[in-house]
Amino acid sequence: MRKPTTGEQILDLLLLRTSPPDYAVDQPYYTTGNIVAAGLIRVVLIALVIILLDAFWKSSTSWWYVALFAIWGLGLYPAWVQYNKFNESVDQISAGTLCGACRHFNRTNQLCMILDEHVTNDEPPCEGEAWEPIS
Ligand code: SF4
Repeated sequence: MRKPTTGEQILDLLLLRTSPPDYAVDQPYYTTGNIVAAGLIRVVLIALVIILLDAFWKSSTSWWYVALFAIWGLGLYPAWVQYNKFNESVDQISAGTLCGACRHFNRTNQLCMILDEHVTNDEPPCEGEAWEPIS
């Protein structure tokens, strides 16, 4: 696995990909924070475009219908799909790995909180030495 460039990270953020890019075969390329940020950025961009279109073609009120559909279809729905995919991935880790049964595992960003490392389906980053049961 290689580290993505800044450009790739920005592109991923805007695209809300549904399949992993080549550098993220077994690591999360979206977390809850990324998904919320991507949704908000998309909504802001759509709103700006709609405001500009409305400024140039003032005669029609249909821009607001276009805005509503665009905000849902291009902004919120892709973020919702990505959020569900992320949760499915975390559910698999929770059910099938040692980290999933550890109190240091943070579901919202798929992270080991004491090592500050993303957890995958492979070996636990601590190799089980720091594991503590969920109380
Ligand atoms: S402490 Fe070890 S077992 Fe627990 S979440 Fe971190 S890496 Fe996984």
